[in-house]
Amino acid sequence: MAEKHIYRFGNDANGNNVTETAGKTVDEAKWITGGKGANLAEMANIGLPVPPGFTISCQTCVAYSSAGNVWPDGVLDEIDKYRKDLEERMGKKLGDKGDPLLVSVRSGAPFSMPGMMDTVLNLGLNDDSVQGLIKQTNNPRFAWDSYRRFITMFSDVVMGVDGQLFEDALNKKKAEKGVKLDTELDADDLKSLIPIYKQIFSDNVDSKKYPEVVVGGKPVFPTDPYLQLRLAEQAVFGSWNTPRAILYRQQNKIPDDLGTAVNVQVMVFGNKGNTSATGVAFTRNPADGTNERYGDFLVNAQGEDVVAGIRNTQPISELPKTPGLEEAGKELYHVFEILEDHYADMMDLEFTIEQGKLWMLQTRVGKRTALSALKVAIDMYNEGRISKETAVTRVAPEQLDQLLHPQFDPNAKYDVFAKGLNASPGAATGGVVFSSEDAEKFKKEGKPSILVRWETTPDDLKGMVDAEGILTSHGGKTSHAAVIARGMGAPCVCGVEALNIDAPNRTVTVSGSDVVLHEGDVISIDGSTGDVILGEVPLIRPQLGGDLKTILDWADEIRLNPKRGRIMGVRANADNPADAQLSADNGAEGIGLDRTEHMFLGDRKQLIQNFILAEDDDVKKESLEKLGEAQKGDFLGMFKAMDGKTVIVRLLDPPLHEFLDNPRDLEVEIAKEEAAGKDCTKKRELLTKLDSFQEANPMLGLRGCRLGLVYPELNDMQVRAIVSATAELIQQGYHPKTEIMIPLIAFEEEIKQIRKQIEDEIKKVSDEYGVELDIPIGNMVELPRCAIMSEDIAHHSDFFSFGTNDLTQTCLGFSRDDAEGTFMPVYFDRKIVKTNPFATLDKGVAQLVDMGVRGGHKGNPNIICGVCGETGGDPESIQMYYDLGLDYVSCSPYRVPIARLAAAQAKIHSNGGPVPVEKR
Ligand code: PEP
Ligand code: MG
Repeated sequence: MAEKHIYRFGNDANGNNVTETAGKTVDEAKWITGGKGANLAEMANIGLPVPPGFTISCQTCVAYSSAGNVWPDGVLDEIDKYRKDLEERMGKKLGDKGDPLLVSVRSGAPFSMPGMMDTVLNLGLNDDSVQGLIKQTNNPRFAWDSYRRFITMFSDVVMGVDGQLFEDALNKKKAEKGVKLDTELDADDLKSLIPIYKQIFSDNVDSKKYPEVVVGGKPVFPTDPYLQLRLAEQAVFGSWNTPRAILYRQQNKIPDDLGTAVNVQVMVFGNKGNTSATGVAFTRNPADGTNERYGDFLVNAQGEDVVAGIRNTQPISELPKTPGLEEAGKELYHVFEILEDHYADMMDLEFTIEQGKLWMLQTRVGKRTALSALKVAIDMYNEGRISKETAVTRVAPEQLDQLLHPQFDPNAKYDVFAKGLNASPGAATGGVVFSSEDAEKFKKEGKPSILVRWETTPDDLKGMVDAEGILTSHGGKTSHAAVIARGMGAPCVCGVEALNIDAPNRTVTVSGSDVVLHEGDVISIDGSTGDVILGEVPLIRPQLGGDLKTILDWADEIRLNPKRGRIMGVRANADNPADAQLSADNGAEGIGLDRTEHMFLGDRKQLIQNFILAEDDDVKKESLEKLGEAQKGDFLGMFKAMDGKTVIVRLLDPPLHEFLDNPRDLEVEIAKEEAAGKDCTKKRELLTKLDSFQEANPMLGLRGCRLGLVYPELNDMQVRAIVSATAELIQQGYHPKTEIMIPLIAFEEEIKQIRKQIEDEIKKVSDEYGVELDIPIGNMVELPRCAIMSEDIAHHSDFFSFGTNDLTQTCLGFSRDDAEGTFMPVYFDRKIVKTNPFATLDKGVAQLVDMGVRGGHKGNPNIICGVCGETGGDPESIQMYYDLGLDYVSCSPYRVPIARLAAAQAKIHSNGGPVPVEKR
């Protein structure tokens, strides 16, 4: 059978529904006829009044675009057949001078892309059919107004003529008449605009691009309605690939290869006098979820007037009380009920009332805020419309971020002056500071600050805590600043390449602008969008009702129900008692990653520096002992906060030089002092030592488990601190569930040797305290070799934790610190990557995870597998982790609620979708 390109919807001449849905649900049909087409068909099928029409499929758009804007064989004939069929159904013809048929031509992709693609209204008008319209309506003003609107829209949308030229001509006419409003122009005024508009068309259409409209060597507004129709359909297909549509898809993760459908539909008119109207509405309040009808309408207007906001609209509740519109208003309220009953969701819809008769022009599932999503889902469950599982799938996990962090006041007006990566959500406002110390100083003085750095280092932690937000000119979504900020729940925008930061002189200049920022100048950042704003933007902290808790409780009920499918846990990455407590409060079932290097900052930095740099063994030993004591204190706090829950402590991971001062700073200091005649022998020795720790590729250097192999005493100290804290708590009656993790394992022999050392130390501490200890020992899977050789490695490992920050870096060969700011924008532009592999698990890295999980289970059938890289908190990746068979995901404490919801949804989706509504 030949491929079908077109689908009919609506009634025939006898009022019978002749919609061709091919027996598909809306969710199935939308891939063919787009969201708008599928829902028009659905409304027609459930008996709602839909103006008849037909839909050209999305697949036709894809075929047309990929053939270089050439119609596939036979489609134009098929369109002609459906056009004739529509004319027969309506008993009217396009372009007829007695009773013309007019149509709208609208886009409609499988996913809603509001305002991104093209629409043409009133198609079919020409000098003849406008007369027919006058005859039929007895309303010359309406007819000429429709005609001049059509020429404007067609020229602008289809032929690329600047719409402002028509606006200017209209304004000139108003000035000539001495009137202010369009409505003050009469039929003759509007009629006199037609030749002027046609001239604008002829003067501005590119005749090379549109040879179809060239007559006698110059472009002429097409009178042939079939040509109008074909050009409009082509324009809608073309609008799929405009830069703004492409950008929208990129931002909303909509694939580029879906195409848009074209809906050709009989026009109905809301501008035929005071018994006509047009409006948009939601079946519930999309802002807060209140169960009320919500929307606006305009009497005697066309659809675009409502959206354009030229006239003041009336609230929808007024419609049934408006003289002449009472019946249609009542019917619309009935339609609200029918739609909610049918779709069991909050719907948005567009309608037109033509001389007292209601027509439905569109419906779709309504977009809503997080607050509204929660309330609508819970209410609909309580009303018996949906199951708990459906309710849990109705809230997008990413949306919860809106509720968990401060935001810019949505009513605030501001200009964005620079943009970077949206590295950590939430908004902040404060004075610019350039160093950790200055952030601390501002905090002491009670002044909010934004820490502005080229890139942050572990040294900046204090400042990051004290500042309201972090802004960097370098680094990507897994850069130090991004990871730490997300962990702390602090807003962060990173990689703003336009900022030229001169920290010593405390100024920032901005490429391409003459803005210069000095210390204390107030800026605002939005870590959810990457926007940077000059000056203060007011913030709001959205109010949380009990709805979030209800949905998360329901999500956990499903996630933790063994009868419903495999259970995937949610843990947190935390490295201090306060974050451990926050993780527990947010519902984490344990700590999946405690990065112990974060415990080596502040006063302790000197101790680790002494250990690294001292020549004297006693000094080294003493430093280690002090570090051990300090760490033990932290572990006691963390284990208590997580009592009875797993806490995985990772042994030291980063290259040691991260704890040392920057040798280049020291070099500058020496140069200055020597120039002043000072003796710098000691400093020069230190410089030589510092230089000896520099590596060309530190991320591939002396770090991870290699540190413990080169400096075994570091491991002994850490293990002793971890284990003695555990033993002490057991003695006090607590139930710590401590586990020890070794980073950056590549070889079986590495884990074998280190495990032996750890076990020996555990045994020693156990004997000292006289306490039985069962402390599992596992490893991070951060290197491809570890994933590939997972079976052998698992012989020595109780658990695997996939570190996708490093695994992505080493699998792709992309630096996690630089890639996003250097070449990745080009990779996005050229569609080499669709999503950021550091934020959403890359398919290639997923193969390594798969290999790791399978091999791990072969080597150790009891192995527990989880993930603790940044992708562990990303909903899309969480679905992949569920399908890869992971036992848990671990993410920043602030993302724990998001991960709980995403994990429940992953389970539901992977086990056949939500169960139907429960019998209650
Ligand atoms: C990782 O590599 O994914 C990981 C969690 O470790 P880190 O980010 O500390 O290198
Ligand atoms: Mg790592």
